Amino acid sequence: MPRCAVYPGTFDPITFGHVDVARRGLTLFDRIIIGVADNPAKSPLFDLETRVAMVQQSFTDETRVTVIAFNGLLVELAREQQATAILRGLRSASDFEYEFQMATMNRRLDASIETAFVMAREDYTFVSSRFIREISSMGGDITSLVPPPVIPHLHAKMQRA
Ligand code: ADP
Repeated sequence: MPRCAVYPGTFDPITFGHVDVARRGLTLFDRIIIGVADNPAKSPLFDLETRVAMVQQSFTDETRVTVIAFNGLLVELAREQQATAILRGLRSASDFEYEFQMATMNRRLDASIETAFVMAREDYTFVSSRFIREISSMGGDITSLVPPPVIPHLHAKMQRA
């Protein structure tokens, strides 16, 4: 039975930090399903379709990664996809509190699904989607921090701003 994990997030937009987490996940699991959360509560900059497309375009070379959009319960998605684990990334102690609460809640909802954490690569610990959006909106260079397919989408947003 192949081991499969769901890697959920907002990916608004996907960064090299996210890519690193997924690739580390592939050393632990046979398949990773990247679940792009609709997450209207976060008022994402990019619509769901664009966020999914940017993630897909960032993994064209990796057949063991599947990208899907979802809304609703993460444990439901994991069950539907026959995943036995949830994959998340940790950058710093400040990520821990929220991640701990989410993992504990998900365990309450389904004790058979384990949450696995991988640590960010050192040079991406400061990379977040929020900083990418902010730096990009002010005309800063983010080319070393996001996969190339994300760049035209960020530029298009800047032109419209
Ligand atoms: P969410 O809204 O669910 O927090 P994000 O897209 O912001 O979605 O993040 C998804 C996951 O990826 C989280 O576990 C987050 O900690 C992790 N992550 C984001 N950026 C990085 C990074 N630079 N290095 C390691 N993990 C990261």
